[in-house]
Amino acid sequence: MVCIDVAIALPVYNTFTYSVPENYLLLVAIGKRVLVPFRRRRVTGYTIGAGRCDDSKEIKHILDVLDDRPLFPESMLPFFRWIADYYKHPLGEVIKNALPGGLNLYDIASIALTERGQRALADGALPPLENEILCLLEAGPCSLHRLRQKLKMDVSNALIHSLAARGRIVQIRELRGGRTKPKQEPYVALADPRLPVDNLSPVRKKIIAALQTEGELAVKQLRAAVRVDSAVLKSMVNMGQIHLQSKRVYRDPFGEPIRADRAPILNREQQMAVSKVGDRIGHGFAAFLLKGVTGSGKTEVYLQLAAAALSKGYSALVLVPEIVLITQMERRFRARFGDRVAILHSGLSTGERFDQWTRIVQNDASIAIGARSAIFAPLENIAIIIVDEEHDPSYKQDSSLRYNARDLALVRAKLNDCVALLGSATPSIQSYFNVTVQKFQEVNLERRVAQRPLPEVHVVDLRQSRDTRGVRRFISVELQQAMQSTLERGEQVLLFLNRRGYASFPVCAACGQAIRCKRCDISLTLHQSAHAYKCHYCGFTRASVSHCDLCGSTKIKLLGFGTEKVEAAVKKLFPDARVARMDRDTTARKGAIVGLLKGLRNRAIDILVGTQMVAKGHDFPNITLVGIICADLSLSFPDFRAGERTFQLLAQVSGRAGRGAVPGRVILQTYNPDHFSIVAAKDQDFMAFYAQEISLRQALHYPPFSRMIQLKILGKDKEKTKIHALSLGDLCRRLKTREASVFKTVEVMGPIEAALSRIADYYRWQILLKGLQIKALHDFVGQLLVENSASFSNRHVKVVIDVDPFFLM
Ligand code: ADP
Ligand code: ZN
Ligand code: ZN
Repeated sequence: MVCIDVAIALPVYNTFTYSVPENYLLLVAIGKRVLVPFRRRRVTGYTIGAGRCDDSKEIKHILDVLDDRPLFPESMLPFFRWIADYYKHPLGEVIKNALPGGLNLYDIASIALTERGQRALADGALPPLENEILCLLEAGPCSLHRLRQKLKMDVSNALIHSLAARGRIVQIRELRGGRTKPKQEPYVALADPRLPVDNLSPVRKKIIAALQTEGELAVKQLRAAVRVDSAVLKSMVNMGQIHLQSKRVYRDPFGEPIRADRAPILNREQQMAVSKVGDRIGHGFAAFLLKGVTGSGKTEVYLQLAAAALSKGYSALVLVPEIVLITQMERRFRARFGDRVAILHSGLSTGERFDQWTRIVQNDASIAIGARSAIFAPLENIAIIIVDEEHDPSYKQDSSLRYNARDLALVRAKLNDCVALLGSATPSIQSYFNVTVQKFQEVNLERRVAQRPLPEVHVVDLRQSRDTRGVRRFISVELQQAMQSTLERGEQVLLFLNRRGYASFPVCAACGQAIRCKRCDISLTLHQSAHAYKCHYCGFTRASVSHCDLCGSTKIKLLGFGTEKVEAAVKKLFPDARVARMDRDTTARKGAIVGLLKGLRNRAIDILVGTQMVAKGHDFPNITLVGIICADLSLSFPDFRAGERTFQLLAQVSGRAGRGAVPGRVILQTYNPDHFSIVAAKDQDFMAFYAQEISLRQALHYPPFSRMIQLKILGKDKEKTKIHALSLGDLCRRLKTREASVFKTVEVMGPIEAALSRIADYYRWQILLKGLQIKALHDFVGQLLVENSASFSNRHVKVVIDVDPFFLM
């Protein structure tokens, strides 16, 4: 009997052994999904290896093999196991989380009758079920799913495979989700590089000269350089002077073809970075932090390192925090590597994503680029894992499997014996700390490319800022003047405020009560264009004409401001300027972000107002002024990373200015001009910020000087949630006392009500476990789970484990 080990995609911590019936023997393989019976249900599981057949127990057998090809290589299993163990998450659910969604091959594959099948049908003498299937297919191809419906019975994949193996049917793989047709474009190249040109016309000479220097050219590009009509090209083809050939071209998000580019000559700093990191490629694990100021050419370093990896036959994985940035990264990687790039992100349709995934599994692509979930890209033979903008909070997933893709990049690199390269202009405290303790090697790019200066930052103290009538305004006189002159020069302005909506703190003018969310413990934000109050945590919406809940008054004072109000003010101040806004409200529609970025690039937008979305690594050369409306918003969060986050946001958004030939300027408005996060951001001085912040962390015993696991306790009933939280707290303390020697370094903090004490109808409590080593914390939680598995979570109250938590509120 052959047995396999299966991880089931359900919240169960064990893996299970199943036997494999004979007709499936050739079909099973590690990385394929199987259908298995489990507690009177049929569920999907993942084959993770050979199982031990223990004759003493009754072993159930698998019901079907669901995939033709493995969905991931065997080499990824240790990685999945590590994750399951570290994040205390069931292995099957880890794998499920890693795979692209919507994997339903039942619906995807369609089957068709072959000639041989037709003959077999005509000959008769087929087993009844085969006969029925082939008969049905005679009417035309159909999906396996349809076939099963028509036959009103379960046709096993094994039978379909055996029919296919005998050449009676073929499987046609067609992806749902509207796979876009590849675009083609004509290209010309020289037929013979030593072509004698003496007797040719001047036009032809020019064409040949152009092709000699440029190699291959798109006909469009050639025409831009040399005025030539198609008759001439045709005649040159006929005379065997040039080749004309259709080539697949990729288009950037703006719809323009991405043309092949060549690597520029690196500057000295870039060269040193590439050689330092590149020397380690193929020689085992090594971790690097590339600290390069905004606009210093980090992406070019990534490109050349990926090229080095590919030239040695390896693959490369590139993580980028956001879809918007992926498209930029994609453009540059495609220009350099063409077809060898695969893209993974949530903006793709299910079919497209599955298609990209399959290309990686089949080794058709050797570079994968994507957002945090691309850390699971099924690449083999990885030589380098690059994490761009490694400080970005979006690498942390905060639902179901709570992982941090930046941390996992290091884990995967270690397991794969390869290089991890984290890059940022504003590294996380954690990563730079790793440099200081020599876990990471530091690589620096201290200057912008082409000697472009960093922008000059001017601080406006909002405590003293008054306009001429003595009224406080959120656009100071200095900022307004700077905007005016920037617009006059025909350059672009970026205004940053990390809060969306019109008024963030609407208050009843009659009784003083704030307008609050019904489902959360938080005030609603007025969104004027939507005529609604919205909750930014749960999405609850109510009409903006509503009355005060307490006194019924309709007079509402609009305190607090967000990007929508800034936009309105800017339109009033600069009626002739073209103003646009980029935040979650204006970019919900698919393609909206691209539209805005296109507007910026084509200079159809003069002023862009936005939230942290505009701070991310965009490269727009014509933005010469960045205005920070209020630098303090993120400072007051009750979170030990508030200062770090503020520094990163401000330094990053400042870095959007002056990336082109004209130097940039930043006007930074703040109520805390002396706060070290703000001073350091003003000077773009990461080291100064780090020095201050790290001593604070050390004094307070915060990461990186300690590790944390947070237990989040969530329930819809206020009292039950509280009681559960308190009893879990007692349990923690009892465990600590009982095993005092093992857990002496584990600190149990709480339970306390969360800073956001209710979100989307759930009351929220938390317990923070803090310790010097993650091992002790892991063991602690492991013990809690073991002793308490039945009551850890119950029907009313859920307990979620967040290892290395990021959002502590
Ligand atoms: P970063 O990622 O560090 O912010 P980029 O990699 O986007 O910076 O580089 C900024 C700009 O400089 C890009 O337009 C890029 O094409 C250009 N660039 C980078 N390296 C070079 C180089 N060695 N020579 C010329 N241009 C370069
Ligand atoms: Zn009121
Ligand atoms: Zn809400």
